[in-house]
Amino acid sequence: MPKKGLLIVLSGFSGVGKGTIVKELLHRYPEEFSLSISATSRKIRDGEEDGREYFFVSREKFEEMLKEEKLLEHAVYNGNYYGTPKDYVLQKSEEGKNVILEIEVQGGLQIRNIFPDSLLLYVVPPSAKELYSRLTGRGTESQEEILRRMRRAIDEADYVARYDSMIVNDDLEACINDVYSLIREKQEEADRRDCLIRRLKEELYEITKEDEVL
Ligand code: 5GP
Repeated sequence: MPKKGLLIVLSGFSGVGKGTIVKELLHRYPEEFSLSISATSRKIRDGEEDGREYFFVSREKFEEMLKEEKLLEHAVYNGNYYGTPKDYVLQKSEEGKNVILEIEVQGGLQIRNIFPDSLLLYVVPPSAKELYSRLTGRGTESQEEILRRMRRAIDEADYVARYDSMIVNDDLEACINDVYSLIREKQEEADRRDCLIRRLKEELYEITKEDEVL
């Protein structure tokens, strides 16, 4: 049986480049990673495809999924539901894939509660001005929406302390390498721990199976 993959939560301000980082990790290390595709009740945007960016569902359908406990976590963001489908994530992790969840902070903390061994990464921009120019540059949101997202970032910023690591996305290449290194480190640490604990348990078992101990 392959060893279980890590659950990696990648959060960060809207427009910081999470999507690009995830896309690059999947492209460079296809054997190592799987991406969780969330369900959302928000409207599909131009250029998006159902089942690729998200599973686009009605509010009623989302509430039904919640009731049937089909979601690992969920949150409301700008009045829309977002949630992580349970089965896919658990299946990929069982297969040994590291599963990336690109989700916001409330969901990230729910994942930490259910899976204490998950890795929570938070990506920030080098400056607010740079964030503004990236949001304007991608041209997918109105000016009003951009400001709303930046205001939300003010509240979200306080959550960073509850994440394992913060990565500044200034130079994209360096940022991708940092994220990958943090994942490897976490994996190696978990492997060392599991290996030692397995050995210790075997030794403890051996020593204590006799009636007279030592
Ligand atoms: P957008 O509408 O721009 O695609 O996403 C809005 C926010 O929802 C982003 O911060 C994104 O990371 C977050 N998000 C996407 N999917 C999920 C999910 O399944 N759960 C949670 N908690 N947040 C999500």
